[in-house]
Amino acid sequence: MSTLKLAIQKSGRLSEKSLALLQACGIKLSNGDRKLKTPASNFPIEVLFLRDDDIPQYVEQGVADIGILGENEVWEKAKDVALVSKLGFAQCRLSLAIPRDEPYTGLSFFANKKIATSYPNILEQFFAEQQIPVQIEAIGGSVEIAPGIGLAQAIFDIVSTGSTLQLNGLKEVETVKRSEAVMIGHKGLSQAKQTILDKLLFRMQAVRNAAENKYILLNAPTAVIPQIAYILPGMKSPTILPLQQEGWSSIHSVVKEDEFWDVIDQLKALGAEGILVVPIEKMVN
Ligand code: ATP
Ligand code: MG
Repeated sequence: MSTLKLAIQKSGRLSEKSLALLQACGIKLSNGDRKLKTPASNFPIEVLFLRDDDIPQYVEQGVADIGILGENEVWEKAKDVALVSKLGFAQCRLSLAIPRDEPYTGLSFFANKKIATSYPNILEQFFAEQQIPVQIEAIGGSVEIAPGIGLAQAIFDIVSTGSTLQLNGLKEVETVKRSEAVMIGHKGLSQAKQTILDKLLFRMQAVRNAAENKYILLNAPTAVIPQIAYILPGMKSPTILPLQQEGWSSIHSVVKEDEFWDVIDQLKALGAEGILVVPIEKMVN
């Protein structure tokens, strides 16, 4: 029997969400104490806990078959791996920031300036494309303090809310890339491993569909069912049940989370009443 080896971050911003994703897919890890390796008890998968920096290399070499990490780290390491799926969490941007009091005049501001970053490769590529010469100061962390201590005149770093920049007297002036957590895979997985990966992806899709959809139940005059069925097509078509009260029906369907409020307004306008909306745990199309 084959086992798929999945690398996730040992401890950091992605660890909890990566484990939560496995859990939502019904995968139980036999011990939760994050040894280097932990097999699942009910799925042919083994989890390796690593630093996120090392994951692209492990996946390229096939020491791990798949890995979960920030896209930013995938770009920076530029290893030969496949992008399997975007995961929709850990959204952040990679941005250029400068001291708050400096007037910003556009990208030419950076010409011949020193920029501190933990992402030298991404930054180098960006300024090469812009044909602007810059000096890149690669440092391991705490990039935001670099201008304050005189190491650089600007920084290039991960930003989500911008509060770290603000605390350090900096302002974000350019967004270079947007990143989120992704799954990467070894190129040339065996057929057996690919089959396990497909099973995992199928489960992940069901979890994702469920999070993006709600189950909706409502009462409406039987006469407006065609209009409601048009607004709420559901997975195939809505379920219609007669109410005991003559001329009324109960309608059950599925609605997308992001269309939800628009749909509710339309339903009310058609005379719908007693609208219930409930979460879905798993959804298989
Ligand atoms: P490791 O010890 O594994 O090398 P790290 O310190 O490099 O960890 P973390 O700070 O835990 O990394 O961040 C991991 C990933 O989470 C980043 O590569 C990025 O994709 C994402 N991330 C980082 N900061 C944020 C943020 N503020 N908001 C959202 N996502 C973020
Ligand atoms: Mg790291």
